[in-house]
Amino acid sequence: MSIKPEKHQMPTRAAAERAADFGEVALGYTAELAVAEAQRCLHCKNKPCVTGCPVGIDIPTFISRVADGDFEGAYTVINSASSLPAVCGRVCPQERQCEGKCTLGIKYEPVGIGRLERFVADTHNAKDIKPERPEPNGHRVAVVGSGPSGLACAGELAKNGYAVTVFEALHAAGGVLVYGIPEFRLPKAIVAREVEGLAALGVEFRTNVVIGKTLTVDELFADGYEAVFIGSGAGLPKFMNIPGESLCGVLSANEFLTRINLMKAYEEGSATPVRRARRTVVVGGGNVAMDAARCAKRLGSEVTIVYRRTEKELPARREEVEHAREEGINFEMLATPVEINGADGNAVSVTCRRMKLSAPDKSGRARPEPIEGSEFDIPADCVIMALGTSPNPLIRNTTDGLAVHEWGGIIVEDGTGKTSREGVFAGGDAVTGAATVILAMGAGKSAAKAIDEYIKQYG
Ligand code: FAD
Ligand code: SF4
Repeated sequence: MSIKPEKHQMPTRAAAERAADFGEVALGYTAELAVAEAQRCLHCKNKPCVTGCPVGIDIPTFISRVADGDFEGAYTVINSASSLPAVCGRVCPQERQCEGKCTLGIKYEPVGIGRLERFVADTHNAKDIKPERPEPNGHRVAVVGSGPSGLACAGELAKNGYAVTVFEALHAAGGVLVYGIPEFRLPKAIVAREVEGLAALGVEFRTNVVIGKTLTVDELFADGYEAVFIGSGAGLPKFMNIPGESLCGVLSANEFLTRINLMKAYEEGSATPVRRARRTVVVGGGNVAMDAARCAKRLGSEVTIVYRRTEKELPARREEVEHAREEGINFEMLATPVEINGADGNAVSVTCRRMKLSAPDKSGRARPEPIEGSEFDIPADCVIMALGTSPNPLIRNTTDGLAVHEWGGIIVEDGTGKTSREGVFAGGDAVTGAATVILAMGAGKSAAKAIDEYIKQYG
């Protein structure tokens, strides 16, 4: 049988229609498309795709179940390695992971592994099967933060009978999945379903509790928790330290996206509205920059992304860059802001300088260097900084004996998430700095295994 060289296209809403609302952009495979895509798999004996998956999903086995029309069987294979497949199928950078290693990709387009994962998870979720609550084992664990690392850790422990409480600073559980990644890429109902699944397993969610303020890690131990997992992420935004950053209309992508995604600032009568800008400049080139730009577009603004390297170096997922372009986002490459100009305290334009690329820097990417005298202005009444984030210092400043790196990340033992403080484990962005959903989930899962061993030994 001849192989179709390209992946089967995933039905997607037209750019002009979707850029005017917050509904999901990609619609997912139908059963027919999923089976046809699964039939492109070569079932390689050495399974290179599995080596590209940070949680080691048995990809060829799940794909062959899809090809046979056994979608629930495929779900069982995925779920034995990944607790958030409907999320990962949507947001994982597959082109750099499993699909990047796919043998078929040498000659043709790789198998659409992410699209198949999404299809399998959505098909299973539509059946609304509630998990069975396991027999309690009498031990209690506290999880700080309800992002993918905290959810994965809580889920694994709950399946083993632990009484787990997740403490979340915000009023809704899900971490970046609810406050950062927009509805049009990851519908919040999907995240809510995962959280409900964990609650059905017995996990208790306590929202509006800031560990380090409302309660400390010491108080959690005093309260009878035998171990604590810290999955508090990296939510502290960076700014450029250029003149004009304190003008009205200049904000971090974190604040902008939280207002939009968590506080629904795009709805009429929202309690925390955002400025409906005429022209927005977004500074940065990662997923966060794409998300901020596409949200601003949906609020009716003309949007320009300013990035200091070229298209080739853009760290955002290729698909997100393509979607942003289709939706009419402008890109100003090889440029960096040097000043934000204001009138009456409000941002009115951004002065940028042209850049050129020279020898690679420590990250291995070509180093951008300024071209003197090349300044130009972009009109903007809103400027969004999407320059990366670092871990919030609150927990490290209130927890004795917790060793951290100079840049703020918690130091852990590889593979277990064990910190320098007895009984405290950590994982996800709080340890690595801003990374990915699947890496955070993998870290939560391995920490759960280490916590189980720790409590069985000392508990
Ligand atoms: P988080 O998801 O950050 O969750 C941490 C949670 O801890 C938060 O809910 C926070 O409120 C809570 N918390 C913090 N401090 C405290 C405290 N003191 N007490 C109680 N709770 C606390 N990754 C991808 O793989 N694909 C993508 O497409 C992608 N897009 C992204 C888009 C945006 C806008 C952003 C910001 C990130 C994106 N990422 C993406 C990265 C990914 O979302 C993160 O790497 C991942 O969510 C990290 O998970 P985590 O569990 O470590 O932390
Ligand atoms: Fe199938 Fe690609 Fe994995 Fe080979 S590498 S088994 S073709 S998904």
